[in-house]
Amino acid sequence: MHGEALTLALWEGAAGRRGLAREAALLDATPRSLPERNLLALRRYAHLFGAELELVGRCPHCRAAVEFTIDAVDCADAMEGGPAAPAAAEWHVLETDAAPLRFRLPGPADLGALDAVEDPADFAESLLARCIDGPLPDAAARDAISRRMEALMPGAVVSFSLLCPDCGGGWSAPLDPVELLWRELRLRAESLLGDVAVLARGFGWSEREILELGAVRRAAYLQLLAA
Ligand SMILES: [Zn+2]
Repeated sequence: MHGEALTLALWEGAAGRRGLAREAALLDATPRSLPERNLLALRRYAHLFGAELELVGRCPHCRAAVEFTIDAVDCADAMEGGPAAPAAAEWHVLETDAAPLRFRLPGPADLGALDAVEDPADFAESLLARCIDGPLPDAAARDAISRRMEALMPGAVVSFSLLCPDCGGGWSAPLDPVELLWRELRLRAESLLGDVAVLARGFGWSEREILELGAVRRAAYLQLLAA
C-alpha cells in the first residue's frame, strides 16, 4: 500500500485511538525508545508527504510568528548516524553534593502515561518524577538530570535553533514528529474524504472509483462540478 491508500488506512487506524495506541497505529510499530519513535515518525512523514516540512514557530521574545522549513530525511539521517541510546530501563547515577540520585531514561510508555498533561512545565516535572528513583530533588538537581538525560539520549527531543527575523532573538523550538505526522495525516485524509463526498454526490461514483481516478483527474472533475 502507498500514497493515498496508505494515508487513509493509517488515518482510519489512528483516528479512534489516543496516546500510545494511536502512536502504534501511526508508526506500525511499538518503538522501544524515544529516539526510535521520533526516527520512525520522521521516516514515515517523508515517505508519505515528502521530506520538506514547513513549520511555524513563535518567537518567545517578541511573539512574532516565524516560518521555517526542515528536511525530515536529513533530520532522520542525522539521528541514525548518532550514538544509540541506552535502554530506558537501565538506571543511571548522578552524583550531587547530597546523596547520589538514581534515574532512568524516559521511554514511550512514560509519554503515553502523561498524554493528558498539556502544560509543558507540569509535563517536564511529571516526567522527571516518573524517572527519578525517590522523591523529586531541588530545581538545580532536576536541571542537571534533564541535561544528563539529553546527553545520554540524543534524538529523544527533536528541536531546532531558530533566529527571529524581527527582533534578532534566538531560541530552541522543540517539535514532536509523531504529532506532526498525525496532524498532516488528518488534514490530508479529511480533505481526501471531502473530495470523495463531493464527487460521489455529483456523479454517483463509489469511493473506490473516485480514489482510483488519481489526484489530477479528481481535481479536474471537482472543477467541472464547481463551474
Ligand atoms: Zn522576535
